[in-house]
Amino acid sequence: MKKLTTNEIRQMWLDFFQTKQHHFLAPVSLIPVDDPSLLWINSGVATLKPYFDGRKTPPAPRLTNSQKAIRTNDIENVGVTARHQTMFEMLGNFSIGDYFKKEAIEFAWELLTSPQWFGISPEKLYITVFNEDEEAYRVWTEVIGIPKERIFALGRDTNFWDVGQGPCGPNTEMFFDRGSQWDPENIGPRLIADDIENDRYIEIWNVVFSQFNNDGNNNYAELPRKNIDTGAGLERIASIFQDTPTNFETDIFWPTIQKVESLCDSKFKYSIENYRHPVKEQTRINTAFKVIADHVRATTFAIADGVFPGNKDRGYIIRRLIRRSSVYGRELGITTSFLYKLVDEVIAAMGEFYPYLKAKRDMIVEAIKTEEEKFLKTLTKGYDTLEKIINDEQTVSAKNALLLFESFGFPIEQTLELAADRGVEVDYTGFENLLEATKIAARDARKDLKAWDKQNELFTKLTINSEFTGWEETTRENSQVVFMFANDQEIQEITDQEGFVILDKTPFYAEKGGQAADAGILIGDNFKAAVIDVQQGPQKQNIHRISVQGTLKVSDIVKAIVDEDKRIYTMKNHSGTHMVHYALRHVLGDTVMQSGSYNDEHGLRMDFTFNRNVTDEELRATEIEVLKRIKEGHPREVYFCNMDDAINKYQALAFFTEKYDEEVRVVKFGDFSSELCGGTHVDNTKDIEDFIITGIESKGSGTFRIKCLTSNETVNEYLQNQFKNYSDEADKIIDKYNTSKEILKSAKLEIIYQELKILEILKDNLEIVKEKLELLKETFKSYEKEANDLITAAKLAQFQNVEPIINQDGINEIRLHTSGLTIKDLKELSDQFRNKFVDLIVILSSTTNEENFLVVGVSESLQDRFKAIEIFKGMKDINPKGGGNANLAQGKY
Ligand code: ATP
Ligand code: MG
Repeated sequence: MKKLTTNEIRQMWLDFFQTKQHHFLAPVSLIPVDDPSLLWINSGVATLKPYFDGRKTPPAPRLTNSQKAIRTNDIENVGVTARHQTMFEMLGNFSIGDYFKKEAIEFAWELLTSPQWFGISPEKLYITVFNEDEEAYRVWTEVIGIPKERIFALGRDTNFWDVGQGPCGPNTEMFFDRGSQWDPENIGPRLIADDIENDRYIEIWNVVFSQFNNDGNNNYAELPRKNIDTGAGLERIASIFQDTPTNFETDIFWPTIQKVESLCDSKFKYSIENYRHPVKEQTRINTAFKVIADHVRATTFAIADGVFPGNKDRGYIIRRLIRRSSVYGRELGITTSFLYKLVDEVIAAMGEFYPYLKAKRDMIVEAIKTEEEKFLKTLTKGYDTLEKIINDEQTVSAKNALLLFESFGFPIEQTLELAADRGVEVDYTGFENLLEATKIAARDARKDLKAWDKQNELFTKLTINSEFTGWEETTRENSQVVFMFANDQEIQEITDQEGFVILDKTPFYAEKGGQAADAGILIGDNFKAAVIDVQQGPQKQNIHRISVQGTLKVSDIVKAIVDEDKRIYTMKNHSGTHMVHYALRHVLGDTVMQSGSYNDEHGLRMDFTFNRNVTDEELRATEIEVLKRIKEGHPREVYFCNMDDAINKYQALAFFTEKYDEEVRVVKFGDFSSELCGGTHVDNTKDIEDFIITGIESKGSGTFRIKCLTSNETVNEYLQNQFKNYSDEADKIIDKYNTSKEILKSAKLEIIYQELKILEILKDNLEIVKEKLELLKETFKSYEKEANDLITAAKLAQFQNVEPIINQDGINEIRLHTSGLTIKDLKELSDQFRNKFVDLIVILSSTTNEENFLVVGVSESLQDRFKAIEIFKGMKDINPKGGGNANLAQGKY
């Protein structure tokens, strides 16, 4: 058996098919283009759909590629089975209406067995075909000469490819026999025939004969044009040539696994021996190594293709991969961020075929590191809480799962996985139901909460003190409950329901000064509670609206834990608000006055007054100024002082009409931003990371609202969405263009479209993509006019030899009845005739599918005697309806 590296295998495949006149297609992005049915490219053929269904003409009828693919439904298998990855590469050869079964099988056999190519000995190979596909069986046995004991004719579930509607057909699969040492019970080829999961016979290649069309009701008609679609997993083939127990010891993953070994606690080692003599604990350790190596590779590729960790769709998958790796890292004793340190190993293994990875290395490292670090903070708190829940209750109830999820953003997948490790059950269905219910409840929550501050007399008289400690801490070990109420009544204890609580000291920030309230949890000996909202009471106490499980009593000591993730993002946005406030004044002048703001973990908005509209240039200058200040890295300073000092000593801005207390708080960044503010802020402007203005709107009478985002993650997510919207709009235009490009081509339009589509998702390109789309729209507009003129001209060309006749009044007249011409066409034609012939009367009618049109035109020289409108009205036999003047009359009849 040859020993081949993964790069050699891939190259050999592509070379082989190129010698067989296949056109090489370079790998494309993992993000599908124009295919809303797919979240990720999940196979080689997924990128070729338009060629297969005839929407586009392929560059050649024979194609070959090696395409990266992601299958999210295999994530659970990763590290558990020997041969599944999240991302893998699929080698393929394709025939679009060209060769069919015989050649496809011959090509496969030659590549696998010829000594010039893979050189696998034939007796190592086993074949399956569909049991109704006699032709494939015959080619294998008679043309290739496979002995009967190595070929199996099997049923529909393994050997017929069908997705319910559309092209489908039988397939043939090739298996490699790794030998009896992988078959401890010595079952032999029956493992294939009975489709038993095993490590001995590895499926290396699947060739689909796309032969029928399924009409959706399982009626199969032969396709007029038959196709071949094949897929072979590169990593699996590599494991054969490198004779490794799983895909993970091949040259693709091995360097990464070794690097993980060097980073983790030295008592954990990857063990190959374990595949021969498995020990449960070691199997678990091996899995951790494999999952990490797999996930960092998939993540590296996804980020390179522009997918950043986020809260939905693809971004969420990447976030999950990073979080999952981080959790497995912990099992190997790694407690700090480490995943980003593996990116170089991935690039070294994959960079030859994917050279762009090197160029994007720094961006990838940065994105992974940021996400990991963020997660580690969440994880620590979530772990502690979950640990306590498991110890106390030996089960994770739906409510507790929700508590973890809502209060820390602790992923439900992690709860499930950790609970499974400890042999503890999670009420997952209950969790999903609760989550749904909370979403509905949240809509009305705010209304309820505001109700007390005006109406509740009990509450307005309350003078008890509560101190806010959240500027310095986000977790407080021992806060004491000093007051509780529910349904407008003071209460002494609360069990399993919602209520309001005041603590002597609390790290929870109440919504005020434009900053959203903190979320998080309270925990005590006999209860846990999610903090749903925090508002400030009339006496400045922070009042927590909580949902309690268990029993909470007045005087109880509780641990108060703020959701740090939400807080951190809110802080970035609050400091961002100060930055944009400063920058607007810097760019527009001191007449800018802030008149309100709101910031939470998602973004910020600020209202301000100004005497005229703000120009695009001024907005850009504002953005640049903010970014400059972020980059410069100004530390935050805070001063508690009296109002005098605030204004004179610290130059704080203050224009709210609201009354300030004796002592005020000043938040200052550098010597440029100083505001009276009770909010929480980043330590240094550089922690804001990134900044973008997403819009400005006028609220009338000189008030404007500016909307902005901060942080790398949020800005990236925004850019991706924007680019997608612009690109979709461009696609719509090009679709229209495609319907008329046979008549008129526009190189300019095509170039603009191409330029737009290849723009990288970067902030600097946002204006450019916008401009390109505008230009595309404009170009299309004039193109459309020109194309329509040509279409009209083509339609009217048939009339170019028409000559007038002399009518009974001795006047030149053209009278024509046509079909299919619109009223516009008729008018155009009447103009043409009148330009061509002098002293002319034209009477043109047309019948279309829906209507009949009539146009009458009279040359100016004749209009004292004959008026178009009179001739039109005079045609009583057809009784036309419409109007006009001496020159032209038009209408329907
Ligand atoms: P399996 O049953 O092993 O999941 P499949 O039937 O889903 O495979 P196909 O859809 O036929 O696989 O894909 C073609 C080839 O792609 C497979 O033969 C295999 O070599 C490879 N492949 C599929 N899924 C994965 C994966 N998650 N990781 C690595 N290789 C894969
Ligand atoms: Mg599969």
